[in-house]
Amino acid sequence: MTLKNKTILITGASSGIGLACANLFAKHGAKLILLARRKYILDELAEKLSSKYKVEILPLKVDITEQKNIDEAFTTLAEAWQNIDILINNAGLAIGKDKIQDGSIKDWRVMINTNIVGLLAITNKVLPTMVENNTGHIVNIGSIASHEVYPGGAVYCASKHAEKAISKGLKLDLTGTNIKVSSIDPGMVETEFSLVRFNKNNKQAQAIYQDMQPLTANDIAETILFAITRPAHVNISEILVLPVDQSSTTLINRNRS
Ligand code: NAP
Repeated sequence: MTLKNKTILITGASSGIGLACANLFAKHGAKLILLARRKYILDELAEKLSSKYKVEILPLKVDITEQKNIDEAFTTLAEAWQNIDILINNAGLAIGKDKIQDGSIKDWRVMINTNIVGLLAITNKVLPTMVENNTGHIVNIGSIASHEVYPGGAVYCASKHAEKAISKGLKLDLTGTNIKVSSIDPGMVETEFSLVRFNKNNKQAQAIYQDMQPLTANDIAETILFAITRPAHVNISEILVLPVDQSSTTLINRNRS
């Protein structure tokens, strides 16, 4: 399957994995809806990609934790953009690495509202048209944290375990349709993820990738590209992608200095 003229909605397209997907899919001729809160980044990206690859790009400023914001964006979506072929549910974040006894309920709410409720809210908007057309592909970005739990990561891991349950449940609900559901689950990827997690503390963020080689956002974009270009009868259910230096959430080779 080719991406030429397919409409793809990427959430969290202003940075990291989402941004890498935008670049790669535009190169393959897709029409893109780029969604995030930082609209100025999306506007610049849209301009760059549409002039470089001659594809249509729609930047959309949406906070996926704000239902009103989502409702507004989808009710005002021009007809030409309403038939979304592929949804990449990528927007997500971790905040902090505190133990539960020291954690912040405010931060937990943000993680749960973004990684679980936000993902569901966007899916809920996009899926009815896919069901009507009996075609489409939902790609949820999970994590090694969808498979394992690590100290100080209980809530983030819970939100990514939920992503896994939602991906499996979605596929069950869509049995008998031609709609595909995939979960792409990265290990450590160097993006803004750690900067966000540690509240822009550069030192703490850099320590995460100290003396090891993480994945790049493009490594994950390439994996997603593989999943969304399989023939119509093939559904990639799940791919776990780790850096060679990462054997589990806690076992990391740090001898690469
Ligand atoms: P990133 O560089 O921080 O990008 C996160 C993206 O999510 C940004 O574009 C951000 O855009 C968007 N976002 C966050 N909250 C949002 C909200 N409320 N509404 C709309 N957009 C929102 O991190 P990344 O590594 O690319 O993360 C992408 C996905 O991969 C996440 O689901 C993450 O959990 C998962 N993941 C990452 C790693 C890793 O090591 N990096 C590993 C496994 C899984 P704005 O700030 O502009 O809104």
